[in-house]
Amino acid sequence: MIHSASKYLAGHTDVIAGLVVVNSKPLADQLKFNQNISGSILSPFEAWLTIRGIETLSLRLEKQCANAMAIANWLSEHPAVDKVFYPGLATHKNHHIARKQQKSYGGMISFSLKDDLIKNAIRIVNATKLFKLAESFGGVKSLLAHPVTMTHRNIPEDFRRKAGLQDSCIRLSIGIEDAEDLINDLKQALDKLNQPIGKQITVLQ
Ligand SMILES: *Cc1c(COP(=O)(O)O)cnc(C)c1O
Repeated sequence: MIHSASKYLAGHTDVIAGLVVVNSKPLADQLKFNQNISGSILSPFEAWLTIRGIETLSLRLEKQCANAMAIANWLSEHPAVDKVFYPGLATHKNHHIARKQQKSYGGMISFSLKDDLIKNAIRIVNATKLFKLAESFGGVKSLLAHPVTMTHRNIPEDFRRKAGLQDSCIRLSIGIEDAEDLINDLKQALDKLNQPIGKQITVLQ
């Protein structure tokens, strides 16, 4: 198994680390040998950051899952929101599988807008204050991203449409902040859709 430690394991969006897990001693020895001669090891500082992150993994995930469930429920009721993709919702197509195999449903949510336009999504991802606009995920601070212009921008439009990735899709990575603060942040950003662009006041600081 190849697993990224950069996301939930390290948990603070400040480490690039990964691991390979095998169930054969000769293969493990070979991998260790190759790693030793190629020098592809984690720096001591990053190893320490990862260990320190793992110490709070259980607490972090509990909060991230609880926050995500509350936010997914809130989003599904919002009049501007079209679909919410979160396996904890009964409306998710694989909810029955998720319910069988997990007791909570993770910290990643995506949603699309009824008015499915790139410019609407861009307006929202630029309007949030607690949710920072960035591609990473799994950390203690909430992030959001617009896949069509960010992570998936190199995927041709027809492929994107076939895969069901909508223009207005926004991906949320839920952190450990207060759930109500996060919901209020999304609320004020979604409210921007009802305001004419010209009337927005920008405060430069
Ligand atoms: C996931 C991610 C990486 C790569 O980390 P891996 O451990 O290789 O998965 C790099 N940059 C960002 C912003 C990421 O989200």
